[in-house]
Amino acid sequence: MKSLKEFEVWFITGSQHLYGPKTLAQVAEDSKIIVDSLDSAGDIPVRIVSKPVVTTPEEILSVCKAANDAPACIGIICWMHTFSPAKMWIAGLRALNKPFCHLHTQFNREIPWSEIDMDFMNLNQSAHGDREFGFIGTRMRLNRKVVVGHWQDADVQQQLGAWARAAAGWADSQNMRVARFGDNMREVAVTEGNKVSAQIQLGYSVYGYGVGDLVKVVDQVSENDVDALVSQYTDEYQVSQDLLKTRSFSTLREAARLEIGMRAFLEAGNFKAFTTTFEDLWGINQLPGLACQRLMNDGYGFGAEGDWKTAALVRTMKVMGMGLNDGGTSFMEDYTYHMPKDGQAYALGAHMLEVCPSIASNKPSLQVHPLGIGGKADPARLLFDTKTGPALAASLIDIGTRFRMVVNEVEVVPVEKPMPKLPVAQALWIPKPNLKVAAAAWIYAGGAHHSGFSQVVTTEMMRDFADMADVEFLLINEKTDIEEFKKEIRFNHVYYSLARGL
Ligand code: MN
Repeated sequence: MKSLKEFEVWFITGSQHLYGPKTLAQVAEDSKIIVDSLDSAGDIPVRIVSKPVVTTPEEILSVCKAANDAPACIGIICWMHTFSPAKMWIAGLRALNKPFCHLHTQFNREIPWSEIDMDFMNLNQSAHGDREFGFIGTRMRLNRKVVVGHWQDADVQQQLGAWARAAAGWADSQNMRVARFGDNMREVAVTEGNKVSAQIQLGYSVYGYGVGDLVKVVDQVSENDVDALVSQYTDEYQVSQDLLKTRSFSTLREAARLEIGMRAFLEAGNFKAFTTTFEDLWGINQLPGLACQRLMNDGYGFGAEGDWKTAALVRTMKVMGMGLNDGGTSFMEDYTYHMPKDGQAYALGAHMLEVCPSIASNKPSLQVHPLGIGGKADPARLLFDTKTGPALAASLIDIGTRFRMVVNEVEVVPVEKPMPKLPVAQALWIPKPNLKVAAAAWIYAGGAHHSGFSQVVTTEMMRDFADMADVEFLLINEKTDIEEFKKEIRFNHVYYSLARGL
């Protein structure tokens, strides 16, 4: 996928025949004007496609089935310009298997005080037409997003845009193939999970491979291709002359060979995400660091230590953030803390190697250093600082009876002092509302040590995605209070047990 413009959202306007052809023609005309405006809105990244006004149960069922069958269509936006009796919508909404958003807007922005008459009232009925439509969504227990406001308002377009991004992530996850090179890191709990449940609920299909399967492909990489990629590295990154002249240079060439092989393997298998593990590197001379960083930068999801759920989540977040260039999205791990007696507490996020350069604030520096674990050659990696400002960390866990998503809003801050001996990329942040509350809430929620970290994906997108997936969503932010948060966890246990049953 190159752009979210490959995706369509269908705009469906509801009405009925009560008002006569003249009113229906006006409804269709107004609807088209709204669609044209939303389609060209800068905050809406997908195409908004106008569909004929629907006035009967048959027309509604037909357009919902067509939406299901259209590969480019990732969801529908519904709006009732007039009243549209909602029993007409039952069959269509029951058949619909794509996300839907209810736009509660009105063509006219203001009441025409001196002109208003019953013709105007009969045409501009969203205020009650959309309530009738809303009832049936609730009555049918359908997850959907309700966006309220005038269609020309920036906040309305931004909310529709966030939903469209979530729908793009959802569409992408429906056929997401995840490749695992080796299994989970042994004895680790949170990286495990039910892959059958994940496929049923989220669409992920997870494939395990022996590392030897990858080695076969890596071994076929030509010296010329390795030369070309190493030269690309020296163009794109800061590379010291030392690295190019010492024995580390052969390590760098092996890193390039590994990247070419991994990329070929993933492309051949049509994979969107992958995992590695330092415990399983049979036949590979170093833990892939640079390769994982660069593949992530190109849109692949990645999870270390066999963490396929985080790999898939990072991919979904990459899709949701596509085209937003004020930052990026990476695999991340809460690594270590700064807990001064007086002063600001921080979390330092990093990983052994694999942090995506899309979040960098400076040109990455390519370096080769020893790695204490894994017992292999010194791996190549990119080092950089992370762009400061708002970001979020998200975790998808399997708590036995269901999946749960945990999101923590954070503020990335400049490092207080240089860290010249730290040989990995890093991000320093203040978790909201503060480290004490955020970490306690995250731990009570069972959030993983791994996360999808993003500067461009918002809480709203993550929440919309969780709704589409019908996944429990727990948010930790400025408003979080631990006792209330613990109650929310307990209430959710009851809710999901009742809602899902056996
Ligand atoms: Mn890890």
